[in-house]
Amino acid sequence: MKVAVFSSKPYDIRFFNSAIQSDHQFTFFEPHLNAQTAALSQGHDAVCCFVNDSVDRETLEQLNKAGISLVALRCAGFNNVDLPAAIELGITVARVPEYSPFAVAEHAVALILGLNRNSHRAYNRVRENDYSLHGLLGFDVHGKTVGVVGTGKIGQAFIRIMRGFGCRVICYDPYPSESTTQAGGEYVELETLWAHSDIISLHCPLMQATRHLINSKTLASMKHGVMVINTSRGALINTSDVITALKTGDVGYLGLDVYEEEADLFFEDNSDDILRDDVFARLLTFRNVLITGHQAFFTKEALEAITAVTLTNLTAFEQNDMAALHQVLPPE
Ligand code: NAD
Repeated sequence: MKVAVFSSKPYDIRFFNSAIQSDHQFTFFEPHLNAQTAALSQGHDAVCCFVNDSVDRETLEQLNKAGISLVALRCAGFNNVDLPAAIELGITVARVPEYSPFAVAEHAVALILGLNRNSHRAYNRVRENDYSLHGLLGFDVHGKTVGVVGTGKIGQAFIRIMRGFGCRVICYDPYPSESTTQAGGEYVELETLWAHSDIISLHCPLMQATRHLINSKTLASMKHGVMVINTSRGALINTSDVITALKTGDVGYLGLDVYEEEADLFFEDNSDDILRDDVFARLLTFRNVLITGHQAFFTKEALEAITAVTLTNLTAFEQNDMAALHQVLPPE
């Protein structure tokens, strides 16, 4: 198949080029996929895209005109795809449902430990020949209660790590699983999770029911000084509400790998530009906020797996092997 790869970075090109042992031909495009760039896919059979590409109805209509029959996402989440529109236009959507749950779970833990022990501040201090400890006081993670929202693959990997730290792990998922209980998670109602957790980590998908799950109302029911970690999708948090809670100290620590308006910021070097997002700029002023630019997935093992599953999806689609295709289907 001829595949137009959007939002290509040098590391995507490196991993794809080292894995290709098939007849598929790739054209790598730097821009995001959207209605304006979709025409670049003319002459290809499929597009391959990532988390901040906009696969909305307008884009899909352009792709349809260009003769595209497959959208192969190189990520797990598909909240950026208008699935009903794709189905209507006869465009198949495939994804990489699982690459490395450990990569994301371990990054969530890195944010917890970094925030708690102020590693980001200590790093800068030591470089300034300043070895004072004021402001760096942490707490033992051991013995704390950790709340996990979403106990899928990443949530379960995270639970196992936090159980290793000696934490009590309480969790919420509308579809509880036996494997979560075996990993040491205790299911509770969401209200109980908000009220009892010292640390809350989000591992559920972004959808209508979870948009702004963290808002002024839910924040008010949490422990004063709670730590909130989001490695899932930015819009799970109402950022303005969390800023208000940071100002009062109701939220004591905030660790983010994702941000609601990240599409205009993340994955690019904007260091020559002015930061125009005032909400994001305010977040950056808090010493107890640690932000990374959507890098939780970014391990060698995860990129190898993303490449391998994407190639499998392309071949499966070409050979009409629906059993091997990781197709995104509408909810039943
Ligand atoms: P998964 O599908 O295995 O698990 C998601 C879980 O969330 C499921 O158990 C599901 O039942 C549960 N869920 C659904 N609705 C819910 C609700 N209303 N409240 C609580 N839980 C709910 O997915 P996963 O592989 O564990 O990934 C989780 C999320 O992590 C993805 O949706 C994606 O947004 C994010 N992610 C981020 C990165 C990154 O680099 N930062 C990388 C991969 C995935």
